[in-house]
Amino acid sequence: MKKALFKFWDRFPYPLVLSKYSSKLNRHKIESFNKAFLEVFKFPEGIPLKKSLEEIFGDYFKELGMYSLSYREKTYYLVNLPYSLRQTLHVFIEERAWLRFPHWFHTERLASLGKLAGEISHELNNPLGGILLYSNMLKEELGPSHPLQGIIDKIIALTTRCKIISKALLDFGKPERGKKEWINLNDVIMTIYNLVADYQIFKNVNFIFNLDPKLPLFYANPTQMEQVILNIYTNATEAMKGLGEIRTETKVRDDRIIIRIADSGPGIPPEILPFIFDPFFTTKQTGKGTGLGLSICHSIIKRHGGIIKVENLSKGGAAFEIILPLATREALREDVF
Ligand code: ADP
Repeated sequence: MKKALFKFWDRFPYPLVLSKYSSKLNRHKIESFNKAFLEVFKFPEGIPLKKSLEEIFGDYFKELGMYSLSYREKTYYLVNLPYSLRQTLHVFIEERAWLRFPHWFHTERLASLGKLAGEISHELNNPLGGILLYSNMLKEELGPSHPLQGIIDKIIALTTRCKIISKALLDFGKPERGKKEWINLNDVIMTIYNLVADYQIFKNVNFIFNLDPKLPLFYANPTQMEQVILNIYTNATEAMKGLGEIRTETKVRDDRIIIRIADSGPGIPPEILPFIFDPFFTTKQTGKGTGLGLSICHSIIKRHGGIIKVENLSKGGAAFEIILPLATREALREDVF
């Protein structure tokens, strides 16, 4: 049975290995593997059946779930799946290849990356705060005409930039739980429009609204929904280099609330389309984008029971569609009582 299974898995393009946990050794011993495993992890000493996975790769195999591990300067996503009571199947997918992989692990990956991001941000915040404090003290001490003022200003500006990135990481890792209330999504959209309309980069953007006046209320955290709209508007405007049109439409379709935001920019190159919701994916210049915007949008919308999609329009431009569930009677009852 196992043999037959592995014959099939031999054609699986990514390395996979079956291990059996030995409680005596507290280690996962390799039981079997597929061709890709040997091809990718070339073992000079031959087939490493006697070794444990921990000895070869480190301690990533202890728990079920998903990890990223480094091996010979490459990063792999490692998925540990239960196979039988004592056996575990470990699938290794190289970082870039992962992005072409079907989306069945996407959420888990986001969750584990989110946790990591939160931890990194936490570690960075205090030292960054210290650098800012001390450079401001130094700036004052030296006085306005000191020749080093320019350099100190640069330190302050760059540290502030790091703090912004760190804050974005924190939001991504631990998105504010936030209180939910019944809100009108048309109002959310108009709040953000009024906020951005005065900014230079939005000055030459023609905003067109087609909002359903009978849009039902939606039970959501208003700040988070605003963050989603702001991020989509900002991305669209940056893609259009500040000149073009953004059409926002709201409607109800098949028991769902739809928000559609289409821009007249260049659209999203098809080769990057599968990656744009991935954390840290950005095409913007270093220092301009964090690559976290859309992945934060994705997790906010998911937390509200919805989905967010994107497509390129035949006439050019990109269109983001947010699909949210209409309030159920249960939710309504819960809220009323
Ligand atoms: P960031 O804005 O920091 O780059 P995002 O996650 O918000 O991170 O966006 C990821 C990438 O998706 C952008 O760098 C850009 O390449 C692409 N993108 C997002 N929205 C649009 C759009 N409306 N038109 C073209 N490209 C877009």
